[in-house]
Amino acid sequence: MKAEITKNYSCPMHINVTSNKPGKCTQCGMDLSLSPKEKRKVVVMNALPAR
Ligand SMILES: [Zn+2]
Repeated sequence: MKAEITKNYSCPMHINVTSNKPGKCTQCGMDLSLSPKEKRKVVVMNALPAR
């Protein structure tokens, strides 16, 4: 089971970057924010840049 989404902190810009505690994004250095699970569906669509 990979979809274990409890209180996760994640970067607003990088939904892949998650942590179980407050911190900074390893990709861009932004502060991680609590990510409500209901939001993830929307972000997944725009997360990957078309290349
Ligand atoms: Zn980031």
